[in-house]
Amino acid sequence: MLHRIGPVGDGRRQANTAAVLRAVLDNGPVSRSEVARLTGLSPASVTRQYAELARLGLVRELPPMTSTRVGRPQVPIDVAAAADGDGPVVAGVHLAVPGTRLVLVDLRGRVLAQEVLERERRDPPFVLGQATERLPGFLEEHLGSRRALALGVAVGGWVDPGRGVVVEHVPLGWNGVPVRELLGAAGLPVHVDSHSRALAHAEVLFGDPRARRSLVHLFVGNVVDAALATGGTVHHGPRAGAGDVAHLPLGEASVRCPCGRTGCFQAAVSEAAAANRAADLGIVPAPDFNDLLDAAASGDRRADALLRRRARLTGRAVALLLDVVNPEVLVLTDQSLILSPHYLPEVHEEVRAHSHVCDDPEEVVVPSSFGTDVLGVAAGAVVLADLYQRPLTLLDSPLNPQPSSQPNSQPDSLPAPPPAAPLDPPLDSHLGPPLSSPSQLPQGALP
Ligand SMILES: [Zn+2]
Repeated sequence: MLHRIGPVGDGRRQANTAAVLRAVLDNGPVSRSEVARLTGLSPASVTRQYAELARLGLVRELPPMTSTRVGRPQVPIDVAAAADGDGPVVAGVHLAVPGTRLVLVDLRGRVLAQEVLERERRDPPFVLGQATERLPGFLEEHLGSRRALALGVAVGGWVDPGRGVVVEHVPLGWNGVPVRELLGAAGLPVHVDSHSRALAHAEVLFGDPRARRSLVHLFVGNVVDAALATGGTVHHGPRAGAGDVAHLPLGEASVRCPCGRTGCFQAAVSEAAAANRAADLGIVPAPDFNDLLDAAASGDRRADALLRRRARLTGRAVALLLDVVNPEVLVLTDQSLILSPHYLPEVHEEVRAHSHVCDDPEEVVVPSSFGTDVLGVAAGAVVLADLYQRPLTLLDSPLNPQPSSQPNSQPDSLPAPPPAAPLDPPLDSHLGPPLSSPSQLPQGALP
C-alpha cells in the first residue's frame, strides 16, 4: 500500500490535507486552483486532498460560479458548515463554576445551539454525571440530520489535554479529575483542554487575523488564566502548565488567596472575589457577580468604582503579559467587558501607564471575537483545533481519540504521533507507523 511507505509520507499527507482544509476555511468559497496557489500544492494534489476531505464530509462543492471568461466554469468549494443544514458539527461542554453549558458548534466555530445546566453541587461525579445524562437529549433536540464528530470539553484552570485530565481547578475544588474518561459514556470521542487555550485556538482559526502571528489570550472569570500562541501554534509546555497567571502578585496585599499567599491576581479580580467584595460593602445583598454588573448598569457608583478598580488590576496583568510576550494582539475575555464594554478603556489606561513595549493599547488589547457566545465557542474549539490540524487522524478513528493527541512537551501544530499500540485500530486506517520525532513532521504545506 503506497500510503504506508513511512512516517514522512504520512506526516506529509496529513499536513497537506490540513493545509487544504485551512485554505478552504480561510478563503471559502474558493476554487481548487486558488487553493493550489495559496498552499503551494499542485492542482492534482489539491484534487486528491479535496476528495479525502469530502469523503470525511468536511468540505463540499457549491454551484458553479457564473463567469464571463471562456473556459470551464469554476466550481467553488467550501467547508461543510451549518448553513448546509446537514454539515457536520461538534458537540461541546463548557464547565464553569456556577453551571455547565452544552453546545453545538459548526465547522466555522459558530454556536448553533446551547443550553445551560444549573447546579448546586460541584463535585466531579455530579457535574460530569449531569452533563452525560443530558447530552443525548440535547443532541436529539438540536442535531437534526447533522452528524456530531466529537465532544469538546473546555474548563478553566490547569488542564492536561494529552491525558484528558483537569489537573487543578481551585474554585471547583477539582484535582486530577479524569474528565475524558468520565464523559466517555456520552458515546462520542472526548477532547479536553483549558478554555483559555481553546479560545486562543478559536482566535487563530476564526477570529482576529493577527492572532495567527502572535497572540496572548487572557481569560478573567471565576478562574483567571492565559494562553500564548505564536505562528498559529498554541504553547503547552511540560505537563501543559503554561498560562497559569492566577497567582501573579498583582492583587491587593490584604486579600488572601486559597493558595495560602496574599496579593494573588485571581484572588483580587475573579468574579467570585468581586462579588464577595460587593456583598461585603453592601452593594449587593448576596455575592453574585451578575447582580454587581446590574447594580453598576443602573447607576450604583460604588458598584461602578469596584468594576473600574477590577479593570485596572486586569490592565496591570495585561501590561505585564504584553511586555513578556510582545504579541501582535492580546485578546481579553471577561464577561464584564462583553456586557459592559465601557470598562475596557480602564484596561487600556493601565496598559499605557505600565507597559514598556505597547504604545497603542487600543489597537493591541481587544475583547474576544466571539461576544456572548464565547464559552460555547471555547468548548467547540477544543475539537476544531484538532480537526483543522489533523483531519485524517481525528476522523478516521472516531471512537479512538488520541491518548497523546496533545503531547505535553510538543507544540500542538504538529501532527500528533499516533498511539504506539492503539486498542482499537481505526476502521479505515491511514495511519502509518508512529512518528518518532517531531523533526520528521512538516509544519506547512508540502508540494
Ligand atoms: Zn494564590
